[in-house]
Amino acid sequence: PNRRYLMERLEAACEQARLRTSQLGLLYLDLQRFRQINDIQGYELGDQLLAEIARRFRAQAESNEFVARLGGDEFMVLLSETRPAAMAHAIERYRTSLLAPIQLDERCFSISTSIGAALFPRDAGNARTLFQHAGIALNHAKRDTSHTRFFTTSMVDELQQHEILQLRFSEALAEGKLTLDFQPQFSLETGELIGAEALCRWHDELLGNVSPGIFIPLAEELELMRPLGEWVLSAACQQLTAWERQGTPFPGRLSVNVSAQQMDDPHFAEQIQRIASRPPAGKLGLELTESGLMRNPEQTVRITHALRQAGLSLAIDDFGTGYSSLTYLKRFAADTLKIDISFVQDMLKSSHDHTIVATIIAMAQTLGMQTVAEGVEVEEQAAALRELGCSSVQGFLYGRPVDGETFAKLWLSTPLTASACSG
Ligand code: C2E
Ligand code: MG
Ligand code: MG
Repeated sequence: PNRRYLMERLEAACEQARLRTSQLGLLYLDLQRFRQINDIQGYELGDQLLAEIARRFRAQAESNEFVARLGGDEFMVLLSETRPAAMAHAIERYRTSLLAPIQLDERCFSISTSIGAALFPRDAGNARTLFQHAGIALNHAKRDTSHTRFFTTSMVDELQQHEILQLRFSEALAEGKLTLDFQPQFSLETGELIGAEALCRWHDELLGNVSPGIFIPLAEELELMRPLGEWVLSAACQQLTAWERQGTPFPGRLSVNVSAQQMDDPHFAEQIQRIASRPPAGKLGLELTESGLMRNPEQTVRITHALRQAGLSLAIDDFGTGYSSLTYLKRFAADTLKIDISFVQDMLKSSHDHTIVATIIAMAQTLGMQTVAEGVEVEEQAAALRELGCSSVQGFLYGRPVDGETFAKLWLSTPLTASACSG
């Protein structure tokens, strides 16, 4: 049975359940990583696998259950006269039916499935909505470790919330409503201001301040990282020029964050070179996360060398949280390691974290790289970092991220040093 057949059955079953005041369950099953098997093994084998899976599902079907294939690797099971507990049992049965590996052409395939479930009339008042809500539950199931989710009304609220966020963010970006804050970085040796990090800010009239932890992933989802990245970079350049013009030139490097998605773009290096070739050249740096660098390491090696040649400095952000290969670390043309905030914040409490920080600093020194410790909040952390030979620091102890004007007032007008300010 295909999607059309299923929809007909579903409409009729809803009608019947309404008359009998009974409940009707709908399971939405989606095979995990089936696309990958199709791509690697070819469609013919994919078809054979689907046929075998359909056979297994059908063998599970009890007299009140109806199995259909919607298309691709998606199946549905309709359960009449059911209850939540019985549905949970059915879910287990269908899941277990895939436990034994499938043997085809002397090859073995282990297939598993994500399952979203919805119940009529509890979760929906008609067939179409029931179908839709089983789909929403499936989307949640795919992200859940159990790979099974029953529909809840909060899922719809969340989806609507997410849609509103997406819409408002796209508008804010298009209408130039984003801003940049700047957080200072200081040398641990001399206390001098050596640079700053530009951090993107979004203040929405309705939603208030939305954290980049929320809107950066949103921009990635919407494939807006490229325009966002370009905006951040030119806004940072404009700020450098503005500070210069008003007689408070910025002495060090201004670093801009780059997301993994921007690194995927093969024209990324040229795009950055174009923007960064404008004055004030030589003052810009980029921060690339460790996990972003390792997504496509060979391409990263090429890009980092092109960027260094264009005069940009490069830091590896959140270092210690990804899976860098030491071989690549040497080959990437980065000059700075930023020690992740989590190690810095725990280094006084945990000897493990202290050792990790010490090791990162020692390794950077061997490779001729600088280190910046992120998230320094108390004097004791600064003292411990200084003792380990860390080059520089950034954190609330020294200064929070602030807008360009405040930054100039606080850090650029007079040649203040970190020790003079934090005391
Ligand atoms: P990140 O690059 O690691 O930035 C450092 C984050 O730590 C910032 O959070 C900063 O406000 C925060 N921070 C700095 N000092 C302290 C401290 O002493 N204590 C604590 N608890 N936190 C401190 P923020 O601004 O919320 O940014 C979060 C992340 O969002 C950034 O992490 C970065 O990955 C991303 N992000 C921000 N702006 C941009 C951007 O323009 N482009 C891209 N691609 N990512 C951005
Ligand atoms: Mg950063
Ligand atoms: Mg960081």
